[in-house]
Amino acid sequence: MPKTALVWFRQDLRTHDNPALLHAVQNGYHVLPVFILDDQNAGMWKNGGASRWWLHHSLSALNAALDGKMIFLSGDAKTLMPDLIKQTNTEAVFWNRCYEPWRIARDKEIKEHLKSESITVETFNASMLWEPWTILKDDGTPYKVFTPYYRRGCLGKDDVPQPESAPASIPFADFKTETRLSDLALIPKINWYEQMEATWTPGEHGAQKRLNDFLAQGLKGYKEDRNRPDFENVSRLSPHLHFGEISPREAWHKARMAGIAQNIESDMDHFCSELGWREFSTYLLYHFPGLPWENLQTRFNDFDWADHDSNELQRWQRGQTGIPIVDAGMRQLWQTGWMHNRVRMIVASLLVKNMLIHWHQGAVWFWDTLVDADLASNSASWQWVAGCGADAAPYFRIFNPVTQGQKFDPNGDYVRRYVPELKDLDNKYLHEPWNAPHPPANYPAPIVDLKISRERALEAFAKTKTAA
Ligand code: FAD
Repeated sequence: MPKTALVWFRQDLRTHDNPALLHAVQNGYHVLPVFILDDQNAGMWKNGGASRWWLHHSLSALNAALDGKMIFLSGDAKTLMPDLIKQTNTEAVFWNRCYEPWRIARDKEIKEHLKSESITVETFNASMLWEPWTILKDDGTPYKVFTPYYRRGCLGKDDVPQPESAPASIPFADFKTETRLSDLALIPKINWYEQMEATWTPGEHGAQKRLNDFLAQGLKGYKEDRNRPDFENVSRLSPHLHFGEISPREAWHKARMAGIAQNIESDMDHFCSELGWREFSTYLLYHFPGLPWENLQTRFNDFDWADHDSNELQRWQRGQTGIPIVDAGMRQLWQTGWMHNRVRMIVASLLVKNMLIHWHQGAVWFWDTLVDADLASNSASWQWVAGCGADAAPYFRIFNPVTQGQKFDPNGDYVRRYVPELKDLDNKYLHEPWNAPHPPANYPAPIVDLKISRERALEAFAKTKTAA
């Protein structure tokens, strides 16, 4: 009888550079691929709506690459995994590590249980360039500031390993599954995802194509033009990286090759440092597991957030704030499940600073609507904007959405694409339509007075300087 191993796919939805899969094949196991939708252990951090749409299509692509052999289960992995092992007579389980606190706790329990039942369990690194526990300061404590973490900690360590190819062929175990992807019910009954379908190709082929297109057309000029939401100078790889359809090792090495070949090393280094920000977010989540909900700087704990009415929050969510760059971003998010980084910072700053609405509200909305919703990057970024994070924007940094719009969308192409009510407005007024001689009647007045709300925020946030 050939020996069989379960390969438990999680956030590594690919066949290439997948150490758990490769290990099973190279060690002569017949493979049983499995995916478990474990909303039970995820609790409030179960996948949001947009991520579920993505996950469905990503799993569909992966299952096709695995000859349709994937077993799809839904429920508590702590009971489903041992049951499946009994049912399939498996002697080993291999998976790639995840770093969310709920997954770490669950996986630890499963591993201990399986080992006590004499099942071989081995875990691997598929999604990090440097695993969080390998980078520490000289005194053994974690870094809290990005630049020394990245420059001294990460770049000072061993080189990033080269990615591995997919196994030439995968021998599958002889087990007929009755389960189907549709059992996971990831696709909502109401079709609000048409634009997402037109925008994205989830799965490893889509990820490869996106990386290759970006390196050929968008890497040149990345350092400066990554700030322009009207340009195509960012990779849009974030959902592919989140679901592990491409490994950061591959993105890192291919970007370096392209940067050297095109003689654009500073663009290349900048792109790699953004991969470094992704690492840093996961690093913070690992070392500070309260990151998704607790202010990393406790002096923010008594911050006086405004008593907002839900109408204001809803106007922000729907892209009806009357502030063009903000509305363009929020509508881009709603329609496509993604928003440009510069605009994410602007919309987040408006919510937490000008509107004084708790960063939790923003983080939860992003969690539900982003296709790249990632517990580490989302939480760290919201804390960064709110000023309560580890390496955060100073409290007095309040983005002015008018000047940001004028600087980073100077021709208004981005705003006009998502806010058609403003398409005929003169460029001079596009980012501040309330000053136009005839503001469009079908576009709302601004939700806040930017000057007054800025002063109110400065006053409120200044108090955190003195708080314990
Ligand atoms: P590129 O500029 O092409 O960068 C390449 C990769 O580097 C990205 O795919 C991403 O994996 C990583 N990266 C780039 N910038 C950052 C950053 N600031 N922090 C962490 N990683 C980064 N990113 C997510 O992946 N998931 C989230 O849930 C998320 N929530 C955010 C919330 C807020 C309020 C803000 C301000 C930022 C958030 N980001 C999040 C970070 C960033 O906006 C996205 O990673 C980036 O816009 C993705 O686009 P891209 O792939 O074209 O990036």
